[in-house]
Amino acid sequence: KILLQTLASYLAISIKNATKTIELAKLNKILKAKSERDGLTGISNRRLFDETYVELWNEAIKKKEPISVVIFDIDNFKHFNDELGHLVGDEVIKLVAEALDVSKSSKDFVARYGGDEFVAILPNSTTEYRAEFDKKLRENLKLISKKLKIKKEVTISLGIATTYPSKDDEPKKLIYTADNQLYKSKADGKNRTSELLL
Ligand code: GH3
Ligand code: MG
Repeated sequence: KILLQTLASYLAISIKNATKTIELAKLNKILKAKSERDGLTGISNRRLFDETYVELWNEAIKKKEPISVVIFDIDNFKHFNDELGHLVGDEVIKLVAEALDVSKSSKDFVARYGGDEFVAILPNSTTEYRAEFDKKLRENLKLISKKLKIKKEVTISLGIATTYPSKDDEPKKLIYTADNQLYKSKADGKNRTSELLL
């Protein structure tokens, strides 16, 4: 009888523990998903970008395919904040994130890089595909000021860098290059795209 009681209590404890483990696993999943999303826009954040970038980079090496990084930043974003208020600024950022929904390829990955900066990874894209991505994105942006009933158009400056990566390459270099191209677009007068092949 004692043996049975002991067995029963062991069983009860195991069930309790198993339930806890399942609950914790569920919670973990929710927390992980939350930690990978940008709070304002709901799209992927910098953390998930960093993870995904390394994965896609390694995949490109394996498949001997090119990989492109697109970084862009809203032009004169301070205007929206200063002239129209932070809430309008927030709306602009949200709508820019929505406008990013232009990828035809399910392999593309887009994220908010931080502040008024966004980033996209386009694996195995052609020059034409990137031009189309750029064009469609800018078309979508034209709708934002109409939607918000504000006078000023929302424009962006883009930097694109493309490479065929190999094992000895430093993955960060492509991001630096895209960032430099973005800087060039700003320096050349904003609302434009600069692209470099590494
Ligand atoms: P530039 O054309 O050179 O990019 O000029 P800019 O005015 O866009 O300047 P910059 O990119 O330096 O300014 C970004 C500003 O975005 C600074 C910061 O206060 C604001 N900002 C960053 N994150 C948020 C946000 O989540 N909401 C709002 N409303 N503003 C933000
Ligand atoms: Mg800006």
